[in-house]
Amino acid sequence: MTPTLEHTYACTFPTLATEQRPTIPAESRVTWVNEPLAQELGLDAAWLATNNGLAWLTGGSAETYALAYSGFQFGQLSPVLGDGRAHLVGELPLPGAELGASGNPTQPRVDLHLKGSGLTNFSRPGSDGKAPLSAVWREVVIGESLHALGVPTSRALAVIETGEYIRRRSPMPEPAGILVRVASSHLRVGTFQYAQLTEGEELRKNLVNYALTRHYPHLNAENPLDLLRAVSKQQAQLVAHWMSLGFVHGVLNTDNVSISGQAIDFGPCAFIDGFSRDAVYSSIDRQGRYKYRNQPGVTQWNLARFAETLLDLIDDDPNKAVHLATDVLAEFEETYQDACTRLFAAKLGIDLGESADGQTLDKVAAFIEKTLDLAGEKTLDFTGFFRALTDDAEVQNSEKLQSLLGQEPAETWLAELNRLRAETGASPEKSYQLMQGNNPVYIPRNLTLDAALRKVETGDAEPIQRLIEAVRNPYTRVVGNEDLEQAPDSSRFFTSFCG
Ligand code: AMP
Ligand code: MG
Ligand code: MG
Repeated sequence: MTPTLEHTYACTFPTLATEQRPTIPAESRVTWVNEPLAQELGLDAAWLATNNGLAWLTGGSAETYALAYSGFQFGQLSPVLGDGRAHLVGELPLPGAELGASGNPTQPRVDLHLKGSGLTNFSRPGSDGKAPLSAVWREVVIGESLHALGVPTSRALAVIETGEYIRRRSPMPEPAGILVRVASSHLRVGTFQYAQLTEGEELRKNLVNYALTRHYPHLNAENPLDLLRAVSKQQAQLVAHWMSLGFVHGVLNTDNVSISGQAIDFGPCAFIDGFSRDAVYSSIDRQGRYKYRNQPGVTQWNLARFAETLLDLIDDDPNKAVHLATDVLAEFEETYQDACTRLFAAKLGIDLGESADGQTLDKVAAFIEKTLDLAGEKTLDFTGFFRALTDDAEVQNSEKLQSLLGQEPAETWLAELNRLRAETGASPEKSYQLMQGNNPVYIPRNLTLDAALRKVETGDAEPIQRLIEAVRNPYTRVVGNEDLEQAPDSSRFFTSFCG
């Protein structure tokens, strides 16, 4: 039976979703299906890979839509951005959810969305509406990795190879692909900006209600300030997660900031190898606007842009509205700092529990800063450093740490860490358990991922499949996967490209 897709968003907001057909070349085939995700969604992975599956994934004969949104791109407002190479196929109600009336967005659902699926009425002149196969697979791998690491994120459901070749970075044509991805929704900060620029407050009121009902059903559906607070909180936690993993999103424009709090549109992203707070990998981010250390600040800036789209809904008195919104935005810093401290504490084997007091949190936060300074001075491999700490704890010595930091600095640093662990009452077993569950062995190493992407372009999907398997179980070392742990020195000069 063909699973039914709904269109509550497009039906509720006809001016924000235009009916557009994807371009699916005749040679197209589904070459990969995300089996665990398909299972979670109640879909038959084997069926998805068939011609009928392909037809369903790409909209079949039902309506598909290109979504309208604006965006501050590197600080500059683009009033009309929208899906220039993407299509919303529909909303898939989640299995196990209570059955509401069809069209009721309170029933938990996910968007099924295509990227690289051809030109739309939002495509800019000269663009082709397509995506390189390598960019498609990059999004697959990063999504699976972030998900396995506990980060809310959109995920790939399938990869479609179209048989076409396109020109991007080099004069050599490269294969194109279509990503089928699943996200809580595609509501973005940029959606609210577009609504504000094009229509009166009624549309934004309805967007607020829709967003609250769909993503924050425990909150009062009418209250824009509640939505601002909820989104800020989710975003603060999301960025804290990225920071604790050494992840750089790459393009934190307001069109890539989701209302649900999931990571979306991570194009030229990367996990840091040799640590620097100034790490930036994206070839288009020449000023370093979205470098590692700037991510919390730019997210807060993006949220301020979100707040601006809600002011007239928050209060009729503009001054009062600004005050109320500013207070909510100010909470971001505390939420972020708290989340960040807790995530890093776990990586360090410090047990903060639920009840740690402010003074302890401050002390731990200061130690984290010191640790990142040290990591930066020595350009330590971010993931490898925390893993070395974990490995040493397992065998109860400090050998790996000493070889990274030198004997004396390692002893001094460890002594301070052990004092903090003791103060917060973590037993060595608990400490190890925390580190083991928070310090991955396997992340998509930049050069490893890049090499696997070059192979997949030639039709060899084995290395990328192997990498996906590894990052799906990030905390468990597997014999034979030693090469996937390593970050070669040259990875420092790695640059990542937009598809
Ligand atoms: P992104 O970098 O995916 O967040 O996209 C930013 C904007 O550029 C969106 O409006 C995209 O739809 C558009 N875009 C990016 N690449 C292409 C392309 N190859 N063809 C048409 N539009 C594109
Ligand atoms: Mg798009
Ligand atoms: Mg985008």
